[in-house]
Amino acid sequence: MIITENLTYKYEGASVEALKGVSLHIKKGEFVAILGHNGSGKSTLAKHFNALLTPTDGKCVVDGIDTAEESRVFDVRSNVGMVFQNPDNQIVSSVVEEDVAFAPENLGVPPEEIRRRVDDALDVVGMREYAKHASHLLSGGQKQRVAIAGVLAMQPSCIVLDEPTAMLDPRGRKSVLNTLESLHKRGFTIVIITHNMHEATLAERIIIMNSGEIAMSGTPREVYARTEVLTRAGLELPQIAQLMSNLGKQVALTVDEAAAILQKEGCRA
Ligand code: ADP
Ligand code: MG
Repeated sequence: MIITENLTYKYEGASVEALKGVSLHIKKGEFVAILGHNGSGKSTLAKHFNALLTPTDGKCVVDGIDTAEESRVFDVRSNVGMVFQNPDNQIVSSVVEEDVAFAPENLGVPPEEIRRRVDDALDVVGMREYAKHASHLLSGGQKQRVAIAGVLAMQPSCIVLDEPTAMLDPRGRKSVLNTLESLHKRGFTIVIITHNMHEATLAERIIIMNSGEIAMSGTPREVYARTEVLTRAGLELPQIAQLMSNLGKQVALTVDEAAAILQKEGCRA
C-alpha cells in the first residue's frame, strides 16, 4: 500500500533534515503504529503518505503512484484519508451528517450516492444515531469518529491518523481505538501515529522513529523486548511490560497475559 525508499525531507530554512532516509513498506490491510517522541519526524512522515509533503530526496509510492507526480495527487489523497489531532479543527459543518457529506459534495458525487456513503460511514463509526445532531455539541471522541466518517465518505483504502487520541479523555480514546480495530477488521489499511506505547500495542506492527530515522520495526512483542532501543528513542515501556521486564520475565502485552505468566510460574514453584 505504502512504500518509501530512502525518503528524506528537509523543511525550508531548517538546518537538519526532519526525515533522514526512511525506507518502509506498509502492506494492504495492515494495522501499523508509528511511534516516537516529539520531534522524531512522525507527522512529517505521515504527511508524505497523502502527498501533503513530497520528498526532498528518495521516494514515496502509494498504491503504485509516486506521490511526487503532481497530476496524481488527487488520486493519492482520495485513496489515503488523514485524521488529525484536534477534532475541532476538522469539523466543517454544524450538523453531523452535513459534515460527513462535505468532501463528496465538493467532488460533485450525486445526492443519492452521498446519502448512502454518509449513512454507511456513520454506521461504521457508530455515530448513525447522531446524524442530525449539532457537531459542536459532541464529545471529543465523538467528533474524532465523525472526522473518521468524513474520511470514509471519500472511500479510501487507507486511513492515516496523526495522534488522533491526544486530546481525548480515556473514554473518547477508547471509542476511537475501538473504531480503528473495527476498520482494520473491515480490511482498511490503518496507520496510527502516536507517542503512546500502550496505544501502539493494538497494532500488528510498530515502527519506532527517532531523530528522523527508523530505530526499529516489529510486532509489539518484538519491539517491547528491546528496551535499550526504546530507551535510546526516548520511549517508556507500557507499565505492564516494564514490570515484567524488571522481574526478568517474558514480555507481556496485557495485564491478563502478565497475570497468566506469573500465575503459571507460581504454580510451578
Ligand atoms: P513529530 O510529529 O514526531 O513530533 P515532526 O514531524 O512534527 O515530529 O517534526 C520533525 C522535525 O521537523 C522536528 O525537528 C520539527 O521541529 C521539524 N519541523 C516540523 N514542522 C516544521 C516546519 N513546518 N518547519 C520547520 N521545521 C519543522
Ligand atoms: Mg506530530
